[in-house]
Amino acid sequence: MIASILPTYTRAPLSFVKGEGSWLIDADGRRFLDLGAGIAVNALGHANPDLVAALTEQANAVWHVSNLYHIPAQQKLADMLVDDTFADTVFFTNSGTEACELAIKMARKYWFDKGQPDRTEIITFNGSFHGRSTAAIAAAGSDKMVKGFGPVLEGFTHLDFGDHDALNAAISEKTAAVLVEPVQGEGGIRPMPDVCLKGLRDLCDQFGVLLILDEVQCGMGRTGKLFAHEWAGITPDIMMVAKGIGGGFPLGAVLATEDAASGMTVGTHGSTYGGNPLACAVGARVMEIVSDDGFLAEVNRKSALLRQKLEGLVAAHPDVFETVRGAGMMLGIKCKVSNADMVQAGFDAGVITIPAADNVVRLLPALNIPDEDITKAIDKLEQAARALHKEDA
Ligand SMILES: *Cc1c(COP(=O)(O)O)cnc(C)c1O
Repeated sequence: MIASILPTYTRAPLSFVKGEGSWLIDADGRRFLDLGAGIAVNALGHANPDLVAALTEQANAVWHVSNLYHIPAQQKLADMLVDDTFADTVFFTNSGTEACELAIKMARKYWFDKGQPDRTEIITFNGSFHGRSTAAIAAAGSDKMVKGFGPVLEGFTHLDFGDHDALNAAISEKTAAVLVEPVQGEGGIRPMPDVCLKGLRDLCDQFGVLLILDEVQCGMGRTGKLFAHEWAGITPDIMMVAKGIGGGFPLGAVLATEDAASGMTVGTHGSTYGGNPLACAVGARVMEIVSDDGFLAEVNRKSALLRQKLEGLVAAHPDVFETVRGAGMMLGIKCKVSNADMVQAGFDAGVITIPAADNVVRLLPALNIPDEDITKAIDKLEQAARALHKEDA
């Protein structure tokens, strides 16, 4: 008999009844140090008092009104995002997938309105992840995601991440957009080097192609800048954001330049819930905290500390770990043992990590994880590594 919850996930036998900062607590009172943060979602930890206050204040005022009316919290968050980024305009969604949908629609409508309706091709990269809608799985293109769900939406060309020659050959006046994650998340924490991102921007400019960045996982302070592309000193035309932007409340966004967004006129897109008052009240508070230079400086200091300790851990367990990679608080440990075994050993040691492709274990802690919790995290990962080592012997 099918489970009452559609069985599309393999769930760990864990269930949490409370969250406090970087910790999750189960019904038996067991405490787990949460280095997954709901997959880079709980950017400010669990039960953050500022966010709880923002949510309850809005809940006592008004929960939901349609986008047929002005929503002050949405306006506030949009203005902050426009002030602090390349973007001139923002559309709010409930998820990264919905942001992906709009980014694709926006790019195609752009060329349609410029009198090039056949310019629909979008270049994407193997190992990428853009969500689970029919368009988003077509964009990522892996067999694992599209098999059985055909006909697959047309118009995507998939290249190997980092294959510059293939990119040079594929990009042309027929290309509507290039869509890429500055740091692949699900793909195994694979950062695109700054010079490559710069080169990609130049290439897009050369052919007039729109550059769409998927910063759903790597954005909102995750890499130590508000958005990851800032490290490369470039800007996109369109950007997808979600996960951390709501701090745990479902919220996503598409940010765009005025030119890139020019096709999206009245009636071309909409959402019942996108930009809902509750989501935007929380999102505005997250944005106030995360966009602060002092906060981001702390993210960089903490992530350097975590990385340094992780390098030590990896060096001490060469039979378990291969290498550390990533940026800021978006780190991946490539394992020699199976990453699933490492995640399980972590649970046993009281630390939560997240598996990713390429046999990687992801660490995506709250951006404000206290220093003492970083130390505890390393102790628990150490304990997990020792347990795995013992199993081998
Ligand atoms: C999680 C993720 C998405 C999809 O976001 P959902 O909110 O799950 O729809 C898209 N792109 C990237 C890079 C992601 O990490």
